[in-house]
Amino acid sequence: MRDLVDPAALVELTSALVAVDTRNPPGNEREAAGVLRDALRRWSPTWTEVEPEPGRLSLVAEIPHPDGPGDRPSLLINGHLDVVPVRAEQWSTDPFTPTLDGGRLYGRGTADMKGGVAAAIHALDVLAASGRTPAWDVVFHFVADEELGGALGTRALLDAGLVRGDACLVPEPTGLQVCVAERGLLQAELTVHGVGGHGSRPRDSVSAIEHAASVVLAVHAADFGGVEHPLLGRPSANVGTIQGGSGVNTVAESCRLGVDRRLLPGATVESALAELRERIDGSAIPGLRYDIGVLVFGEASEMDPGHPWAEQVRAALHATSGAEPATIGMSFTTDARFVRNQAGIPTVVCGPGEVAQAHTSDEMVELEQLVDAAAAYAELLCTPPPSTTG
Ligand SMILES: [Zn+2]
Repeated sequence: MRDLVDPAALVELTSALVAVDTRNPPGNEREAAGVLRDALRRWSPTWTEVEPEPGRLSLVAEIPHPDGPGDRPSLLINGHLDVVPVRAEQWSTDPFTPTLDGGRLYGRGTADMKGGVAAAIHALDVLAASGRTPAWDVVFHFVADEELGGALGTRALLDAGLVRGDACLVPEPTGLQVCVAERGLLQAELTVHGVGGHGSRPRDSVSAIEHAASVVLAVHAADFGGVEHPLLGRPSANVGTIQGGSGVNTVAESCRLGVDRRLLPGATVESALAELRERIDGSAIPGLRYDIGVLVFGEASEMDPGHPWAEQVRAALHATSGAEPATIGMSFTTDARFVRNQAGIPTVVCGPGEVAQAHTSDEMVELEQLVDAAAAYAELLCTPPPSTTG
């Protein structure tokens, strides 16, 4: 299967996707639609568009089976089109002008995750070249808004009743390891209230910045404890942003902290907030007044690492490139959680590119990994699902 992959076609399609600026915010995923429609034209898919806000397009492409409609299992392939912002001055090349150098393709989204999307699309061509027939009905979900929580993307498809299938592959960058679990995420804004006053008489007032500093120390020192998850480790918390005060010569009336908590399966938004309050209140900061608002919440998700679908993905990687992929958990969350938790579909995250490349400057993907991915995906497409092999 691997020798049927056309590396030049893979680079071309990945590059075409990367060249469309889909930085989120604002996303503008609709801009990528033309590239996708061209890439899949030869398969004459049935297209469905979901656009909850102007420009925030998610596309569903149902690929007709060469033998016509039939009673087959369906495989969902979910890939997001948005990318994270760039700091152009930190890049050696233009992030939206993909550059191939030394077997690596550089550009924003090459790893996360336009390379994975391109490999999944190219897998159809690889399979056709092999003369084998898909064992599944294949449905692509090209989604918006994953990087900011997925409300305008996979969540919107879920609400429209479109997330259906017997198994799901999410080609996010895992270095082609097989990911079956993800930590959840709570992003909260914590506002610390003080009493403003003249900067020359700080002890007559209450400095919100002083209290916020104590809160930061308390949160960072907190052990959120619990049983260690075999793939996900322990929950964590980090204060990522801080803004406070109205002037150098004024005692700060208020100070806002952006808190990022990572959660294990079972944690809810309520339990995560309650634990945060417990740790802050437990640190007994005298006179502290604060409130917390939720910015983003995504629960953790997992599937049985021994699930036949995970076995099948490992077997496809081994069959096509001889790899012995590890089974891993990820410290962050992807749209796989919607598919696992809300749609109840066994979902493996496995794609080209290293997690460490995602969201960085000079993001890149190794061409060899793109090729390995396309070959393994083609193998998956023509292998009957585990539930029907017995
Ligand atoms: Zn991603």
